[in-house]
Amino acid sequence: MMVDSEGEKEDYWDKVVESLSRPNGTNVDCEYYPCHHQGQDCTLCFCPFYPCLDDRLGKYVKSRRGGQVWSCEDCLWIHRPDVGRDVKMRLHGSDRPTHNELLLIKKDIERLYRIRAKSIMIMGATSGAGKTLLVAALCRIFADKGMRVAPFKSQNMSTSSAIATEGGEISQAQAIQAFACRLEPESRMNPILLKPEGDNISQVIVLGQPYQKMDARTYYDDFVTNEGYGIVKNSFDHLARRFDLVVIEGAGSPAEINLSDVDLANMKTAEITNAPCILIVNIEWGGAFAYAYGTLMLLSPEQRSRFKGIVINNMHGSATDLQKGIDKLERLLGIPVLGVVPHIDHSLPEEDSQGAHDRSNSRGPVNKEIDVNIARIASTVAEHVDIESILKIMEDGV
Ligand code: SF4
Repeated sequence: MMVDSEGEKEDYWDKVVESLSRPNGTNVDCEYYPCHHQGQDCTLCFCPFYPCLDDRLGKYVKSRRGGQVWSCEDCLWIHRPDVGRDVKMRLHGSDRPTHNELLLIKKDIERLYRIRAKSIMIMGATSGAGKTLLVAALCRIFADKGMRVAPFKSQNMSTSSAIATEGGEISQAQAIQAFACRLEPESRMNPILLKPEGDNISQVIVLGQPYQKMDARTYYDDFVTNEGYGIVKNSFDHLARRFDLVVIEGAGSPAEINLSDVDLANMKTAEITNAPCILIVNIEWGGAFAYAYGTLMLLSPEQRSRFKGIVINNMHGSATDLQKGIDKLERLLGIPVLGVVPHIDHSLPEEDSQGAHDRSNSRGPVNKEIDVNIARIASTVAEHVDIESILKIMEDGV
């Protein structure tokens, strides 16, 4: 096999050194920008590790001369801002390292910045259970711990949208969650947005752009299976290759058993992303134990096994009043209740269409009031939910 290895050519290292002398960050003036994605970090334009031959990051492809060449087209790890800066710092002022020495540096960097994100999915027993709030809180809590975290909701039905960094539309809830992560909102965080227009018709927005108006039947029978899965998978994979953690939000309830074959937003997303799940229930409505038990028992045993814990939300009064019920629920379902979140007064938009106020096309939720709300919600959640257990659930996976 003939292998064309650009990285082993004499002048490749000169290009690396030259690119290391440029300013950190995004280089929108480069004629090739964006060679990977909008907002990419260009600190390491020429990868010092090339060719790393790490098949988690790149692959061999056919070269123009008929041989094989190592392709980094899909490697987004090296374009993480934290990876770029750390590698640059380590190489600063050093003589040319050998390729083996460089690969040892890569190994060390890998220990600090994941090659693929861990994930957790928050599903609700009902709409309005508090999924959006819990996802936003977890995003801020993890970001405050120094992790690079992104939100994800495969499909959202809402009339409230915000402008994504690439210029398209995403649901306002995911834009706020992005803000909780201290990120710009991007369309991959909510790749499918359904904007209801009445008479069972929705405008389907795909990756920020208007795609088609569809009735519910066309959407579920054609779009979901033919295109939806691929859109969700590619969008999630993109985020997973750039972040340490992805916090995923479900939609409505996973136990809408009339829709279970085509419900892209819940168990299908959990399968596509291979995420462990947490169920959140709203105690304010009454019947929360039955909602939790009934939701999980309506799932198949395989689906149920993805659920690693329950959060009870919206508690007025003392959580100790619930203890007997919590003990029984834990015994029945074999998973822990990870916390009881007290009722929080806030002005963030609610999840799903039922609770959404129309704040269409806002310029993005970057303002002081939202920041104060998120900080308050995050600190209340951190106080009442077992965050260390959630981190462990993510680490252990399904
Ligand atoms: S796959 Fe990524 S880390 Fe490996 S050589 Fe290419 S850019 Fe560098």
